[in-house]
Amino acid sequence: MLKAIYPGSFDPVTYGHLDIIRRSSKLADELIVGVLYNKAKTPLFSIEERVRMLKEVTKDIPNVEIIPFEGLLVDFAKETSAKMVIRGLRAVTDFEYELQMSQTNHKLLPELETVFLTTGLEYSYLSSTVVKEVAAFGGDISQFVPEAVERKIQEKIKRRV
Ligand code: ADP
Repeated sequence: MLKAIYPGSFDPVTYGHLDIIRRSSKLADELIVGVLYNKAKTPLFSIEERVRMLKEVTKDIPNVEIIPFEGLLVDFAKETSAKMVIRGLRAVTDFEYELQMSQTNHKLLPELETVFLTTGLEYSYLSSTVVKEVAAFGGDISQFVPEAVERKIQEKIKRRV
């Protein structure tokens, strides 16, 4: 059985992430979406909120599991017996960092392979950061995130002002 991990911050999940989740769920028997808890960063959404939103928007995909993790990806891969890491590549700007990460992970755990999926053209510009910025200035984000996520972002922003 092939288990894959798709790791990220998902702060919050966008249609770009969902596209990668749907496509990679067909490549592996089981896909774990690993939601990174990073003490050094202050996300808009707590780890629990990010996990909840991901569960909501992936509930129709049977072989996807949402699991939070902290620390090294290779340790999480060992714990879950995953042999494949999925990452999305939007543009060349992603490439250098992703190459470095995948080579580092491969050194730390040689049996772990990273597979890159290129973004669908319609999502290649999309990032969680851009979505949050557009929403903060009152812009329409309905084409960037699922409705459930849009509502959560609006609630957060209202509470902040
Ligand atoms: P990180 O903080 O690890 O970059 P993100 O949540 O921003 O976490 O992204 C997780 C993964 O999803 C990364 O591989 C990233 O390249 C990919 N990704 C982000 N946005 C998109 C998008 N619009 N289309 C496809 N992949 C994306």
